[in-house]
Amino acid sequence: MSASTAPLDGVLLIGAGGLGCAVALALAGLPITRLVIADDDRIALSNLHRQILFTMRDLGAFKSDTIAMRWGAQRPDWSVTTLRARLDTPEAIAEVARHQAVTIDASDNFATRFAANDAAIRHRFPLVHGAAIGLTGQLLTIDPGRSACLRCLFGGPPEAEGTTCQNAGVLGSLVGEVGWLMALEAVKLLYRTGRPLWNRLLTIDALRGRRRAVPLRPDSHCACQLQPGSDPP
Ligand SMILES: [Zn+2]
Repeated sequence: MSASTAPLDGVLLIGAGGLGCAVALALAGLPITRLVIADDDRIALSNLHRQILFTMRDLGAFKSDTIAMRWGAQRPDWSVTTLRARLDTPEAIAEVARHQAVTIDASDNFATRFAANDAAIRHRFPLVHGAAIGLTGQLLTIDPGRSACLRCLFGGPPEAEGTTCQNAGVLGSLVGEVGWLMALEAVKLLYRTGRPLWNRLLTIDALRGRRRAVPLRPDSHCACQLQPGSDPP
C-alpha cells in the first residue's frame, strides 16, 4: 500500500473483551510504539469462546493485564500500558485519548460507545467504532467535523442496554472478523492511507454472508459538525 513512512503513534484500546482481543492481536503485527488498554473486567469461563487471547489458566485475571502480557511478549521493545478502569465518561476517555493518535472503541455497552463518541467530538480525535452481537456486526470510523458520528446515526443511546453478548450471545468468529477490521481502520488512520469508513456504516450479516457499506450523511446540527466553541442550534 502507498503508506506514509512516518512513525506510528499510540493507540488507545477501550475494551479488552472479544473485540479487544482481536484488535490487539492484529495490532501486535504493526510498528505501533504505544498501546494503552482500558478495561476493568476479569476473565470468566463464558468469555473464552470469543476472547481468543485468553486460556483456562487466565480465569480471574484482569483482561487488560492479560492482553498486555501477550502483546508485550510479541513486542517486548514497545510500551503497553493497562488501565484497570471502566472508561465510560467522555472526560475519562478524553484524558487518555488525547495522548494517542487513534482511539478504538471495542467496548460492549452503549454508555461507553456514546461516551467515546462524545469524547472524540469534543476533543476532535479520530475514533474507530465497532460492535458485534449475535450474528451481526457493524463498524464506523469517525473523524469529527468531517464525517458522521454515532449521534448523527442513532441520536443517542437507548434507555436500556437491550440485547447484549450476555443475553443474546455472539459468534466468536464474527467478533474476530469485526475486531480485525477495526484494526484495519486504525492502520488506515495511522498511516493516513486508504479510505477509512468515514460516512459509511459497514454492516456484517454473518448468517447471510453479507456485508454492506451503508452511506451516511453528517447531521449538520450534530455537535460533531460544529466548530469547537460554537453552541448547538
Ligand atoms: Zn454527529
